Amino acid sequence: MHLRALLEISNYCSQDCHYCGLRRGNANLKRYRMGPDEIVATARQAAALGYGTCVLQAGEDPALDRETIAGIVRRVKAETPMAVTLSLGERPEADYACWREAGADRYLLKIETTDPHLFARLRPGRRLEQRVACLLALRRLGYEVGSGFMVGLPGQTIESLAGDLEFLRDLPCDMAGIGPFIPHPGTPLGQAAVGDLDLSLGCLALARLLLPRSNLAATTATASLHPEGRQRALAAGANVIMPNVSPEHLRPHYEIYPGKLMPQGSMAEYRKAVEALIAACGRTVGTGRGDARGRCV
Ligand code: SAH
Ligand code: SF4
Repeated sequence: MHLRALLEISNYCSQDCHYCGLRRGNANLKRYRMGPDEIVATARQAAALGYGTCVLQAGEDPALDRETIAGIVRRVKAETPMAVTLSLGERPEADYACWREAGADRYLLKIETTDPHLFARLRPGRRLEQRVACLLALRRLGYEVGSGFMVGLPGQTIESLAGDLEFLRDLPCDMAGIGPFIPHPGTPLGQAAVGDLDLSLGCLALARLLLPRSNLAATTATASLHPEGRQRALAAGANVIMPNVSPEHLRPHYEIYPGKLMPQGSMAEYRKAVEALIAACGRTVGTGRGDARGRCV
């Protein structure tokens, strides 16, 4: 099992995705943006606890411009031995190139759904082809590429989920996150049904078979829906957990969906709790960066 320190650096977002609580149309969210010094200091703390990777995630925040992110990546790479994963949404290829040059190792960009109509309906102003083009650009630039999708989006079909799995296989992705959709009341999908956990775990198990060498996450959404969601995801084939290392006072504001599993207490205490969960499942925590083990296709 690989552990990735997940740091949510900003909840500002210029996008209005119908499923997400960070959407710009949600006026009931206290917005925050961490400063570069705070980000680097938190990353150093994560490295000191033994994390081999830190993931810097945010909404599509225009204030996190090309140079700001490049500077942060350079500092984290210079001051820690960690791999750096970015998850900052769809950006111009020149941004991705600059960050790669600054030392970023991996990029996470879920495709969300490969149904082009559903995609366009749920992500106003955006198209599926653009997001695919981003993933291909990231791959060309030499990033380890992560993707994934949500299970149970209103209007999603079993056929389109099969298409999502084939997409991950064909990309192919080095890492993937697959988890249930959880409705957020402050969004247009607030009244929709919650995604089926068993169907989501079934998709994860199929992804494990299709991508035997890829890193597959036990997503926070899975953990949030069921007290043993993480254990069940491990049993279905997940080999990655991404413990939240955001500063405690900011954690509640990164509310992508309600009821999100959140660490209580310090970063060190939470890491211990996750290590204990992994040990109880009969698995061991990997050391080092936990790079993808080469491509299977
Ligand atoms: N802004 C970036 C990264 C932050 S969103 C981006 O959009 O890529 C991180 C992930 O949260 C998304 O990729 C999506 O899969 C997930 N997500 C958003 N809303 C969700 C919801 N209501 N239920 C479950 N997952 C959700
Ligand atoms: Fe913004 Fe990402 Fe949420 Fe869409 S999913 S509203 S891009 S944070």
